[in-house]
Amino acid sequence: MLIEEGAIARVGPSLAADGAEVIDASGHLVMPGLVNAHTHSNQSIEKGLCDALPLDAWMVVASYGGAGATLGPGDLYVSTMVGAIEMLESGTTSVLDCPRCDQRWFDEGMDRVMAAYADSGMRANVAAQYSDLDFFGSLPLALIGEVRPDRRTGTVDELLGRIGPFLERWNGKHPRLRPMLGPSSLPRCSVELFEASVALARDQGVALHTHLLSAKSQVPIARERYGGSTVAFLERIGALEEWTSFAHAIWLDDDEIARLARSATTVVHNPVSNMKLGAGIAPVPALRAAGVPVALGTDGASSNDSQNMFETLKAAALVQRPAAPRERWPTALQTLRMCWDGGARALRQRIGRIEPGYRADLALLRIGDLRLAPKEQVANQLVYAEQGRSVDIVLVDGEVVVRGGRAVRVDAAGVRRDAQRLVDRIWGTLADRELRSAEVAPLLERLEAAVRALPVGFDRSRG
Ligand SMILES: [Zn+2]
Repeated sequence: MLIEEGAIARVGPSLAADGAEVIDASGHLVMPGLVNAHTHSNQSIEKGLCDALPLDAWMVVASYGGAGATLGPGDLYVSTMVGAIEMLESGTTSVLDCPRCDQRWFDEGMDRVMAAYADSGMRANVAAQYSDLDFFGSLPLALIGEVRPDRRTGTVDELLGRIGPFLERWNGKHPRLRPMLGPSSLPRCSVELFEASVALARDQGVALHTHLLSAKSQVPIARERYGGSTVAFLERIGALEEWTSFAHAIWLDDDEIARLARSATTVVHNPVSNMKLGAGIAPVPALRAAGVPVALGTDGASSNDSQNMFETLKAAALVQRPAAPRERWPTALQTLRMCWDGGARALRQRIGRIEPGYRADLALLRIGDLRLAPKEQVANQLVYAEQGRSVDIVLVDGEVVVRGGRAVRVDAAGVRRDAQRLVDRIWGTLADRELRSAEVAPLLERLEAAVRALPVGFDRSRG
């Protein structure tokens, strides 16, 4: 393989070029680097934070009350670096990250996230998260006869007034980094904010990424707010485009799957996080059969909690099997293709293939360490047995960023020391968070029971 200017120039025998640096790949399997198409870098220091909490209750402890609320710019750098090192050392070369940074230090905080990816050597599309409705505004409280005042956490002008300069500072400014818009989720954004975000993305020529129907409680919200389906709303406002992608997409109905299939948009499947929060099983076989491009993501470290894409690959291949008919089970190779081709689509980058013209984002795995049987079954071994333990050398944009299984551009020991200090501080707030969580738990439990009884969703018996 001949690499020139960060891209694969030629593949084949006898490619010697004068003065070229030679990387000896004998004894290695060379594959395209894995693509993690959905995570939250501000959560990287919250592994193991919660257990046995459903999505809405998890939000109270981990998301709104969690690290995202209190990380300063320097902390965001450390948290992002922790995630980047974990991903690179397990063979993931690019990421679609949705960090939440406090609005008070938004510019500096987002720039520190970008700096961490620049320093680590990873490729990153960074969708800055923001929203204008508070937590209770994202819940279908009418279902249980509760009313809370409509509290805005910011105006459309304020929020987009900070995003605009972020896009300007980073769009086209770094070969591996791209800024994106990340309105946090449909339920957390007013209709005005979401429409304005889509218009801004179109205007600036940048991509937009958000959470779509990640919990069943969001189906009744859509009925209240959009007069019906969330996906129909997205179609109406021109948000189902090649430059948009949607994480989770669990609670789709048949009509919504058909609308997604008619569009150019990409869905990002997060099987481990969905299972951990009991959020549901995304109808991936039906989406794929309808022709919807599907990418894979880990989701953030407080709901997965690993950032290892090998684990996500295995979960994505297996999670459908108890319910879907056998002919619709995704195979190991199809699952890898979701990760590579779907990921490339979500990130809008020429990655995920070993072909001339594609970026040289590669993982070299030691063959002796792989649980190798016949070579023809290597996809099976990668998905079901590998777990990233054989990753030896990783290149991003043609540059070696991992050697001997270790990230080489960063002072990992220093990052670990800083991360430990940060973890001690953030976890010190856990008692307070749990108190807040206990206060709203009775309300959330009543809501959960009402939502569980709703007859909505996809008919899984048809796969
Ligand atoms: Zn997420």
